[in-house]
Amino acid sequence: MSGEALTKADREIIADIWTSEAAYENLVTLCDDYGSRFGGTPGERLAVEFMANRLREYGVDSVTVEAFPYQGWVRGTARLESVQPTAASFDCIGLPYCGTADIQGDLVFLGHGAPEDYAKKRGQIKGNLVMVSTQSPAQVRRPMHRMEKYGRALEAGAAGFIWMREEPGLLPETGSIRFNAEAEIPGVGVSREVGAALQRLAKKGPVRLRMVTGNVNQPMTSWNVVGEIRGHTYPDRYLVIGAHFDGHDLSQGALDDGAGAVVTMEACRALAKHKDLLPKSIRFILFPVEEIGLIGSHAYVDAHLAEMKNCEFMLNLDGAGRPGDTNLVLQGFGELQDVFESMCREMKHPLTVTNRISTYSDMYPFVLEGVPAATMMSVSGGPRSGRGWGHTAADTLDKVSPRALQMDALTTARMALRLCNLTENWPAPHKSRAQIRELLEAEGLLEVLKFERRYAFEK
Ligand SMILES: [Zn+2]
Repeated sequence: MSGEALTKADREIIADIWTSEAAYENLVTLCDDYGSRFGGTPGERLAVEFMANRLREYGVDSVTVEAFPYQGWVRGTARLESVQPTAASFDCIGLPYCGTADIQGDLVFLGHGAPEDYAKKRGQIKGNLVMVSTQSPAQVRRPMHRMEKYGRALEAGAAGFIWMREEPGLLPETGSIRFNAEAEIPGVGVSREVGAALQRLAKKGPVRLRMVTGNVNQPMTSWNVVGEIRGHTYPDRYLVIGAHFDGHDLSQGALDDGAGAVVTMEACRALAKHKDLLPKSIRFILFPVEEIGLIGSHAYVDAHLAEMKNCEFMLNLDGAGRPGDTNLVLQGFGELQDVFESMCREMKHPLTVTNRISTYSDMYPFVLEGVPAATMMSVSGGPRSGRGWGHTAADTLDKVSPRALQMDALTTARMALRLCNLTENWPAPHKSRAQIRELLEAEGLLEVLKFERRYAFEK
């Protein structure tokens, strides 16, 4: 970055964010006043109004609240009991999109749930209840998502799905088993301790389980919140900075992803004071219902398909603002590695830049349309493996570091200032659908998308 005015603005942004409590205060409001902000809750609607009003106060040029329909889910009851070899009851929670069911079957434990674990016990799975751990198996060279493990159980003919948290602490872990659609077979989450008790029971003989679930799947409406700063020279060219603001219904969603939402808002607040230095537009988007299917971001991309060709870059902040080292993960656009590494050197702000496409957060609908994207995230506090406190009742405000929010907000704002001023020689053209397909194939993700029933390619 060159130019006195830009250097001055850069320093003002650092000082502004580093001495501001706005991000943390916004997060307190989102978590303590509006709860989880899960799709369909009253807090979700209140959070939408709150965030839209904040963006207006920050002085962006326009704020829109964009409604869309989707398939919603409301938690009801869930019970898990053993019938044989002894009768007992086990604590469990329904997983989003689980419907209403009353089934019985034998417990089939598949450990970490590698594809070969499914293959080895294929004969036992049909008509029975598969239990797998949240841990990604070491022999699979990519993170293995809950949706894939559920999809593989379904494909092998399981009658029910049990999602056992790997980390101890009596915390069941939630997470949707389908995206934006009712699940075919019921699924519940159990803590590591409950899973271990079930495994001990299995040493006495085959474990016959009964799973009873009662949840509501119904059509609902949600809203994307979009604040735009219009570029002074190229208003049609734009960057997107976005994060989901919903958490899971049984948590405050403070780290996942209230933190990312307030980091997005804070970067907006600081940048809106420097419009004269923003030649291109920036859209700050707060997405709802990410947790149950990236639904807000899919809705946004669908509604703005004609403008996607003008979207030069999408930065997703799902996982930003958490304590720990921050990573920038390019989504298959390796040509941007040098751009971001030299930007970090110039900012004197070390950031690990890696490149790996993923399909599990709000950048993915943009990437599907060929938009260059990255996700910025840090390792959260708490258990080191898996999701940390994310997706559990323990994802609460006390885990949040106000300093970490400020750090990632100023990194975001400083990068946006630079990206916005890169008006020539942008090295990342949009990719075609076929190129995106190739990237997914190289990661072994095409087959996974089929298991997850969200394969979006012709053949
Ligand atoms: Zn998230």
